[in-house]
Amino acid sequence: MPKLKLKPIVKKIIAIILVVIILGSIGIYSYVKIKKQKEYETTYDYKLTTLGYDDNTIKIFKEKLQNKDLDYLLKQEKNDIYLNIISDKYFIYNDFYEYLDYYAENQDKTIREIVERVNTNTDKPYYEETNPTDTSKKELMLVNKYYYLDSSYEPENIVTIPQTYAYGDLGSQKVNETTYNAFLNLWNASHEAGFYLMVNSSYRTHEKQEAVYNEYKNSQGTNYADSIAARPGFSEHQTGYSLDIFEKGHSSKTFEGSESYNWLIANAHKYGFILRYPKDKEEVTGYAFESWHFRYVGVEAATYIHDNNITFDEYYAYFVK
Ligand SMILES: [Zn+2]
Repeated sequence: MPKLKLKPIVKKIIAIILVVIILGSIGIYSYVKIKKQKEYETTYDYKLTTLGYDDNTIKIFKEKLQNKDLDYLLKQEKNDIYLNIISDKYFIYNDFYEYLDYYAENQDKTIREIVERVNTNTDKPYYEETNPTDTSKKELMLVNKYYYLDSSYEPENIVTIPQTYAYGDLGSQKVNETTYNAFLNLWNASHEAGFYLMVNSSYRTHEKQEAVYNEYKNSQGTNYADSIAARPGFSEHQTGYSLDIFEKGHSSKTFEGSESYNWLIANAHKYGFILRYPKDKEEVTGYAFESWHFRYVGVEAATYIHDNNITFDEYYAYFVK
């Protein structure tokens, strides 16, 4: 095979072309690399990393927050509080800054307490910012010191509880039909377990609540009245979904800790009822422990609340509202 002979000028041209290609490639490679780095430096991943957050934390921030919130975090020093709050089981995005504000003034509280208080509005004073409750939620309507019923509200399908199950004159104890039917199932199950439950208080009209509250207020002042009774419109008894229940022979003083009370705590949710004002939740419900006050919320909500040890107030904020 004859050797290919190139003229020196051709060789030179080829060499120059090769050099240009190599240098060009290096240039393009460097340019792309620098550009990519510059682009990366504009991302939240990079900026949050330089603040000291790890990849997993950044991933959660990006999942649970919006860009304006990430911008806010970039203006703050690194702090574990953000991830801790976001990671709470009942974190509500719209309340993010309210959690932070409440935490700033209550650093002795746990994250769960911070989120729980904000979710239930109890980071704010009682009766100051109040809203009419959404009665279309029916058995899931919330009535507490922040949500009220209009004076004109009356429950649908009110029925009289027979004296077999209720104290007082016939016709004095009423409740809505849904709650009554659920109560009968609860009553039958408790009776089979050997107990005899009695309803001590049930549906209360706005006028009745007003009379009760004003009596306390006029004799002992607003603070005392607020500590012992709901203001008119703010009583759950006006919903028609609440019942005060004792076992026959017991009173509000002796019911707690009785076998029938323990049975109710363990079983009421199966029939759609919850203990509305539990012992360890006074600050969240706004009410002292009431061993007798049960509220119908339906089996699904009652079972969740029972199994997860949260209040209806927080259940409402997270699942209903
Ligand atoms: Zn009650």
